[in-house]
Amino acid sequence: MDETLLMIPGPTRVAPRVLKAMSENIVNHRSAVFGEILTETTEMMSEVFQTDNQSYILTGSGTAAMEAALGNIIEKDDKVLTIVGGKFGERFMQITETHRGQPVKLEVEWGHAVDPKDVEYILEEDDDIKAVTIVHNETSTGVTNPIDKVGKIVKDYDALYVVDTVSSLGGDDVFVDGYNIDICVTGSQKCLAAPPGMSAITLNDDAWKVVDNTETYNYYLDMKRYRKSGSAKPPETPYTPSVSLMYAMREALIAVMEEGLESRIERHQLAALATRNGIKAMGLELFAQLEVSSNTVTAIKIPEGVTDKELRGTMRNKYQIELAGGQDHLKGNVFRIGHMGNITHREIISTISALEMTLKEFNLDVCLGTGVAAVEEAYLIG
Ligand SMILES: *Cc1c(COP(=O)(O)O)cnc(C)c1O
Repeated sequence: MDETLLMIPGPTRVAPRVLKAMSENIVNHRSAVFGEILTETTEMMSEVFQTDNQSYILTGSGTAAMEAALGNIIEKDDKVLTIVGGKFGERFMQITETHRGQPVKLEVEWGHAVDPKDVEYILEEDDDIKAVTIVHNETSTGVTNPIDKVGKIVKDYDALYVVDTVSSLGGDDVFVDGYNIDICVTGSQKCLAAPPGMSAITLNDDAWKVVDNTETYNYYLDMKRYRKSGSAKPPETPYTPSVSLMYAMREALIAVMEEGLESRIERHQLAALATRNGIKAMGLELFAQLEVSSNTVTAIKIPEGVTDKELRGTMRNKYQIELAGGQDHLKGNVFRIGHMGNITHREIISTISALEMTLKEFNLDVCLGTGVAAVEEAYLIG
């Protein structure tokens, strides 16, 4: 059994009760028994999305839900305003292109959040924009975008608002109805702390209207099929779902409900604050702008005197803590600490402590204990 502590932005550590749920007997996925499990799971999913809409669970990672979101509303040459400030913003753009849409790219400097005024400017200039895509928590840079403010703007235009909350739902505020989100997607293996392999999507009436009036090319991810099977009695999925993962999703969502969404988000906020304070106290530099830094993942510039390979290699091999590297042009320049899911002071203190020892071993100028002290203070006084 690998005991390495996962401090990466997904997959995250899964609680034993959730792992155990997966070992239950496999049932017929077209049965009353499974229908009940599906109903319970999707209802909790809608609660976490904070929406009155129906939610759908897809067997497939977060990217499947991203593709379902766009693939069902885009036909050839449809314009999609795509906010790109990192790897996952780029992914929405590529999916738009794959479905023959025409991305209108709003580029945001990596490490910064989008300025809602820029979104308004483009929507004001171009009447043909059919949808706006935004990534709530840009996992590649550790930035949180203001999905509430952008939602207020998009509401006044005839465009669907499509939001990726894969690495934020369950770790930061997401009010699907309250933020005027038309389509929202998330994944199993990030803040919800279920195993990887499932994702969820929710669509409101405006979104369904577009789905019903657009000629799209989907088979496995055709949302009309999910709607039809989902409203059958008992409810089903159109194709065989991962029954075991559904058990795990249900158990993970029950755990989220037991903790309470608000407390869960506060726990993530505190973990993020403690991590940032620990990092700064050690003399390292954060990558993202402080005002928009993420609740769930922190990107840190790799200091001079140590390489990415040395830093993360020592953390992994000597201290059994897995950190994430940078993506694309940030590769080798930043590393990332994921603090999403089942994260408490124990994991943050261990991580910052091991990081101090690692840097000391490479003869960097660190005073042992300063980072850990900052983490402890954050947890004691917030
Ligand atoms: C992890 C992630 C995804 C989905 O990635 P998968 O590997 O397909 O689960 C999408 N968006 C964001 C912001 C993510 O962090």
